[in-house]
Amino acid sequence: MLNLLYSQLSLTRKSSIIPERVITVKSEEDLKNITEAVGRYEYLRGSEGKIVADLTKLRGIEEIGDKLRVLAGTPWRDVKEKNPEILGNLDFSVGGSVEYGDAGFGFYEFKFIKDRVEVEAYLNGNKYIGKYKGGIIYSVLIRKENKEIITKAYEAKDLDELYYMIKGWFSVTFPPFRDVTIQWKDDKFTLTVSYTKLREKLLSDLVKNFYKGGIIYEEVSFPHKYRYFGQIDFSKLPELKERIKKSKQTTLRISFNKVYFSVYSDIFLSFPEAELFPHSDIIEENELNGCIMCGKCVEVCPYSEYKGSLVYSPLGFYILQALGSAIQINCHMCGKCVEVCPAKLDIISEISKTAVYNIKQIEKGKVKELSYKREIVVTPIGASLEDRILKAILYLYSKGSIAGIKYLDVNIQDLVRGKIDWKKIAKQFAGVSQIITITPEEYYYLQPLKNYAILDINYIEEYTIADQEIKKEELHIPCYLKGFGKENIKCSYAFLDILNNTSSKSEIKAKVTLCPFTAKKLNIATPLDLLIPQVNKEAVKLISRKIKRNLEKSSKILDDAKWYMGVADPLYDELANEIYEVELKTLQPEELLILYFYLDSLEDFTQEEKKIIGEKIARLLLK
Ligand code: SF4
Ligand code: SF4
Repeated sequence: MLNLLYSQLSLTRKSSIIPERVITVKSEEDLKNITEAVGRYEYLRGSEGKIVADLTKLRGIEEIGDKLRVLAGTPWRDVKEKNPEILGNLDFSVGGSVEYGDAGFGFYEFKFIKDRVEVEAYLNGNKYIGKYKGGIIYSVLIRKENKEIITKAYEAKDLDELYYMIKGWFSVTFPPFRDVTIQWKDDKFTLTVSYTKLREKLLSDLVKNFYKGGIIYEEVSFPHKYRYFGQIDFSKLPELKERIKKSKQTTLRISFNKVYFSVYSDIFLSFPEAELFPHSDIIEENELNGCIMCGKCVEVCPYSEYKGSLVYSPLGFYILQALGSAIQINCHMCGKCVEVCPAKLDIISEISKTAVYNIKQIEKGKVKELSYKREIVVTPIGASLEDRILKAILYLYSKGSIAGIKYLDVNIQDLVRGKIDWKKIAKQFAGVSQIITITPEEYYYLQPLKNYAILDINYIEEYTIADQEIKKEELHIPCYLKGFGKENIKCSYAFLDILNNTSSKSEIKAKVTLCPFTAKKLNIATPLDLLIPQVNKEAVKLISRKIKRNLEKSSKILDDAKWYMGVADPLYDELANEIYEVELKTLQPEELLILYFYLDSLEDFTQEEKKIIGEKIARLLLK
């Protein structure tokens, strides 16, 4: 499957052969033994070959004197922050830009990127350093910029206006701009020029009607179906006008008498093949269902990581589907891919159609319900985390508030796959104003309830953070929690293990975790664990025995009261109830909570006694 995946070379181009082997390059060492292979530096485009060296994960930037040493798979978006002298301003990788001869900022003056940089590359297994002359690129050496760059822009409704302006510049002089770029976006053309501050006097007349602009960086972050990259003579630029206006976005990089273009479109646009670079789309059949092969989902997908293969990412899903080899993704639907997908694809609905889990029966656990306007809601996902439910109740009590407990008996597969009738479920929450969840998964999956009931869905561990000092770098953030920043977000695969009935290996470098499943799997404390110690079974026994003893002492009074049985039953019931209430009132509220929580599992009481005690405690707690 992995080899097949690499045969998709662009949005419409497929390799005529399926690669026989894919070598993942993680370090320079891996390149030393490769004598014949084509490099794949990014998912967006590739070359045909029997062996593919995948360098997409080879990323990093090192500053060496006045140069940047950029590993081949690093996207330009990471490089641009480092002030490079030349910048590929398409959202490609540096290695890909050098191999495919991309244009970019600095192009007008410097010609091809590959003519301006040096590479460390391997050709037939031998390393060379210098100008690119074939082979697989390991790193690209780019000089750092030490001059101040000025960028100015000018907007026009019509391309002709800009064409004649630039033509006028070239007819009288050779204006020393670093960059001359026109971008068609949002129904307007923007001309951007850049130059070093030192040249301001030479150019001020030409840009006097311009405003302060910014360097254009062409993110592939919008939905489109076709991409065209190519080159034409500057004199032929007006011929492109109609096609540009039909496109969603076009960038024209002007280099004196040549124009290098990138056109992104939703409809197929015809270009003479001679004008196009090889990674353009030249046929109409786009079967990727909207995926633009950017690979952003691969960078965040825990399931792909857990399975150890690109195949099991949304990128793999869409490509293999297009190649007629659909795969099954049994992921936990965390939605991280949806957050980053620039094509705004409905990935979760698509992959959930195929997901079939192999879940071990999850026990309901000791979830004893208690109705209240604030409820801790437990689904089968969190039902086995009984200690955590109790800790949550005790914590909330310590904050002066009572919480009820509700067990939501839903099918775990349906819950994960989003196949729940929330409207129906919402009826169970009449009178509830706040739901508290104990696992980040439940917090995430229950969010749709908000659409049907006025409920505030909170996550208990998040509450407790405010009560203690935990260093940000010591805290592990699970995949489901959004808005916590990107650092320390890592999946422990604990929930994926539950869903797929596996016991995978994982490592989380953190002192505290916000994920109770990770806590259990890797023996790490959660913020709640730090605040509320474990309630041990002995403590529970002591509480129940204390009540049992006291009730036995009162048994004589009860015996005596039996005189009323059959004569005045309500009087007997009232007396009995009174005795239970008096005895239960001798307990601390925390003890009452613990007793309530474990009541069903205690052997000291009969079923009848448990019923009375449960009702009494609920009344005492909730009044
Ligand atoms: S929902 Fe999460 S696990 Fe599933 S494909 Fe998307 S990122 Fe990967
Ligand atoms: S699914 Fe979305 S994020 Fe993933 S490669 Fe396709 S377009 Fe990019």
